[in-house]
Amino acid sequence: MPELPEVEVTRRGLAPYVVGQPIEAMAVRDGRLRWPVPRHLPDCLRGRRVEQLDRRGKYLLWRFAHGTLISHLGMSGVWRVWPRALAPPPRRHDHVDLVFSRHLLRLTDPRRFGALLWHRADAGPVEAHPLLAGLGLEPFDARFDGELLYRKTRRRAAAIKPVLLAGDIVVGVGNIYASEALFRAGVDPRTAALRLSRARCDRLASAVREVLAAAIGVGGSTLRDFVSAAGEAGYFMLEASVYERAGQPCRVCAAPIRRVVQGQRATYYCPRCQRR
Ligand SMILES: [Zn+2]
Repeated sequence: MPELPEVEVTRRGLAPYVVGQPIEAMAVRDGRLRWPVPRHLPDCLRGRRVEQLDRRGKYLLWRFAHGTLISHLGMSGVWRVWPRALAPPPRRHDHVDLVFSRHLLRLTDPRRFGALLWHRADAGPVEAHPLLAGLGLEPFDARFDGELLYRKTRRRAAAIKPVLLAGDIVVGVGNIYASEALFRAGVDPRTAALRLSRARCDRLASAVREVLAAAIGVGGSTLRDFVSAAGEAGYFMLEASVYERAGQPCRVCAAPIRRVVQGQRATYYCPRCQRR
């Protein structure tokens, strides 16, 4: 499943091909994504120039003068870039094409949990859209720090791991990166959020940023492949410290990594390096 680093790498990979470029055509072969692709979208976008490609959480925001295209990769979505002359015939899960003068962007999404929605400029700022309004801060926003994490967890009796996953304090900390950040900060994932000290909140906020930045760095190094003719974008990951390493030795202390289930999600941690 694409997490924030994949979406950010996707944004960086697509931006040079789309920003400042008008869309010549949009082909919707199967609009049955998580929500139906609006029928008027191809007409709405034809001849319009993408002014900016931004990211908010795991949403890409394609900004036009007359509105914003909101896209999401869902569970299995991938955008690929093809030089127009080299684009192969669409295959079964290639649901949408955005055609620019020299390149074609193709959305492939076998499980169809992705989304393509339109927000008109005259409906107000896209940040107020129902899908975006409740999102927490971006992890790289200067306002997300230990002080904020401390303040926002004082009434949260739940364990810190699901609190991070909830996305209302900080976005983009999915299951993998929550486990990895908690390991890096030395915090047991079962610790009640409200019991974290200010110093541990500082360490955890830094760890969140560090694991996400490292993952984006790893993905950035695959950008060349991202737009290769082979079109294999794929997902990538850091070498995990704990995630999916149950029973294997901790890379720091050699204790076996443990797995627990919290809120129906698997959590991995080192019983020696991480404390409550
Ligand atoms: Zn350890």
